[in-house]
Amino acid sequence: MTLTAQPAAVAAPAWQFFDASVAAVRRLGPSFVRLTLTGPKLAGFGAAGCDQRFKLVLSRDDAGLERLRDRGEDWYPEYCAMPEEQRPTIRTYTVRAVRPERAELDVDVVLHGVEDGHAGPAASWAAAAVPGDRIVLLGPDRPGSGRPWGVEWAPPPAARTLLLAGDETAVPAVCAILESLAGGARSVTALLEVPTADDAMNVALPAGVTLRWLPRDDAPRGSRLVPAVHAALCELGIASTPAAPPEEVGDELLWEVPDTDAASSCYAWLAGEAGVVKTLRRHLVGDLGVPRGSVAFMGYWRQGVAG
Ligand SMILES: Cc1cc2nc3c(=O)[nH]c(=O)nc-3n(C[C@H](O)[C@H](O)[C@H](O)COP(=O)(O)OP(=O)(O)OC[C@H]3O[C@@H](n4cnc5c(N)ncnc54)[C@H](O)[C@@H]3O)c2cc1C
Repeated sequence: MTLTAQPAAVAAPAWQFFDASVAAVRRLGPSFVRLTLTGPKLAGFGAAGCDQRFKLVLSRDDAGLERLRDRGEDWYPEYCAMPEEQRPTIRTYTVRAVRPERAELDVDVVLHGVEDGHAGPAASWAAAAVPGDRIVLLGPDRPGSGRPWGVEWAPPPAARTLLLAGDETAVPAVCAILESLAGGARSVTALLEVPTADDAMNVALPAGVTLRWLPRDDAPRGSRLVPAVHAALCELGIASTPAAPPEEVGDELLWEVPDTDAASSCYAWLAGEAGVVKTLRRHLVGDLGVPRGSVAFMGYWRQGVAG
């Protein structure tokens, strides 16, 4: 019997805390601010590009943060065990750009609720940020792909039709993904629902990529995105006859990222408010018969729920 050598298991990355400070603040539009963060250790931040996520750690209690640092990459059980008042506030964001040679990282933060006083801790911090403010990040210490590294964008090599869709919280990831694509061989459509028309940004798009900004204005959340996704799937020929009704997803935050079928000819990446993503899932899988294995559904945040 011949034994075939298995590829060596790839070690999970060491997620670590990075001390940083705000180097620059740039307002991108009514709803977005770009913060450039810097710190010597950021030269070694392990961003793999695309939808790389990381955490902003907003410390309420230095002792609590030190306890997490002491645990290194096993910080999470310690975090769960801490009394609420000691826990740092931790929020997930996307690396918009990284420049290791300058030890810099850009993050684009949605300023939700700032004007009416309902902002959460991260949006409030970003809205008030000025150069010199200190912040702690939690992220991978070397680039990698896949879930352990915080990267979900994984189109199968054979996929020739790609669809990306999301709300304003998905704008940084979608823009970074689009900029990373090589032009030409694939047909790529991106749909982004944003609070106002002035939130549309200039993005360097490779050939074959279509990006549509969908201002929500006063319409309900998702009311521009859901029909636009439907229309795009029909135009792209991805929609077919429904095979079976989708299983209902409960109240938990929807995060369904399948291991994609390498032979699949299409791939969709959808992120945003959990209720809207759930509606999209029901519609795509149930009404349009889009194979579940070809779509990443990611509830990035939930209306009315902090953190
Ligand atoms: C993988 C991933 C990547 C993400 N990348 C980004 C990113 O690059 N930029 C970005 O801005 N966000 C991003 N988000 C979303 C961000 O984590 C949430 O919006 C987060 O809740 C903001 O924290 P907060 O402290 O401001 O508000 P919280 O304390 O979490 O929430 C306070 C209240 O505000 C509401 N709320 C939260 N976010 C929004 C919103 N965007 N619009 C309206 N109401 C809201 C909540 O429902 C709650 O009622 C990402 C999320 C994930 C999971």
